[in-house]
Amino acid sequence: MLDVKTILFSLVVAELTASAVLCFLFFFWKHRDRAGHLSFGLWSIAFLLGAIGTLLISFRGVLPDDLTIIAANFLILFATGLRRSGVAAFFYQPLRLWIAAGFAGVWLLLCSVPEFATTLSSRVAFVQPVMMLYIAWSAIICLRWNTENLVTPKVYAFSAALETSAHFSLLTALGFGAGNGLFEAISGHVILIALLLILVAMVLSMFTALAMPIERSLLQFKSAAYRDCLTGLPNRRAVFERAEAFKSVSGANNCLTVIRFDIDEFKRVNDKHGHATGDLVLQVFGRVCEETRPVDTVAGRLGGDEFVILSTRMEPSKARILAERIRAHFAAACSEETEGAVQVGLSAGVSSVPLDLGLDEALEIADRAMYEAKASGRGKTVVGSAEKARFFSGAEEPQFAFYNPHPA
Ligand code: GH3
Ligand code: MG
Repeated sequence: MLDVKTILFSLVVAELTASAVLCFLFFFWKHRDRAGHLSFGLWSIAFLLGAIGTLLISFRGVLPDDLTIIAANFLILFATGLRRSGVAAFFYQPLRLWIAAGFAGVWLLLCSVPEFATTLSSRVAFVQPVMMLYIAWSAIICLRWNTENLVTPKVYAFSAALETSAHFSLLTALGFGAGNGLFEAISGHVILIALLLILVAMVLSMFTALAMPIERSLLQFKSAAYRDCLTGLPNRRAVFERAEAFKSVSGANNCLTVIRFDIDEFKRVNDKHGHATGDLVLQVFGRVCEETRPVDTVAGRLGGDEFVILSTRMEPSKARILAERIRAHFAAACSEETEGAVQVGLSAGVSSVPLDLGLDEALEIADRAMYEAKASGRGKTVVGSAEKARFFSGAEEPQFAFYNPHPA
């Protein structure tokens, strides 16, 4: 039969297990993510202190009241404050450990007053609102600072909301229920349900505490594998995967249009102005590309000073206009960024192939067109002529399907 003691012991076992696992992760996370490392440490201590506090409460009547009431609630209050600090640490927010220590200290001070220490409703009226404050505060941090849009902090916020409501029930049942005949009759059930709710919410928050740094790490791995770290654009691997994705969402008759850019005489920029200025020029190009391209296109860095824009909606003539616009914006932005010190040109090649032929083929044709542009004096855009004859002679009408590169 489910009773208060069984729930309290289950909570102790769950908290001790979570503390051990979090402590283990604390030692392995040091070089991965400093915020996650600190959170694991704080949560591990918090769950250990919480387990000791809950264990002491469950020995009420067996051990002296000083231990089962004063020390137990001191530990639980401090532990809940530390859990909040762990959440704050995860989101790079101030830890404010003094708040956790402060409320626990106030509790000890109040307990030195006999009227307070011996009155259940007074003790409950202090402990439960402080717990609610900490837990609701954790939920607010999870929702307010989750700029990476992680899923696990949202689950943590949900578990915190459950836990807060359980503490509110305890406050009403233990604090205000005494003396109210009707309420006293049901308060035993309310306490049992509230404790059960706390158990469920705590187990959920333990799992999410474990999962939060892991989810962030996975996201960072994914981002590192698919992003060019200098420009922030999708890298070569990502560009090829997006091109494959085009195939699955577009019709078989669609074309893949590619604009391939290569900065003119970029080695000279590095030689004359240094590698750091060269990096700046690449970053400027990445920014201009992102700002100028239509939203239904994909831009990426293939490597070195080579970039690409893909589309399944754009005819080569429009792609050429876009390439020219990017050339003009890039020249202006470069000059502005370096206060006129660096003047760079850009050559571009445009190609369009049936989607089935794939990105390799499209890039190959665009590459030839781009070298035609380089060979004929640089600083221009050339449309690959072979595919123009093949697909845009009028005999075969290309179809351009809508592709959303940023699905919701
Ligand atoms: P061209 O007009 O024929 O393209 O001449 P180029 O000098 O631009 O020749 P190329 O495109 O072959 O040279 C690319 C250079 O880009 C070679 C390398 O030194 C430089 N580079 C590649 N990656 C980076 C990078 O991440 N940062 C910087 N600063 N330079 C890079
Ligand atoms: Mg170049």
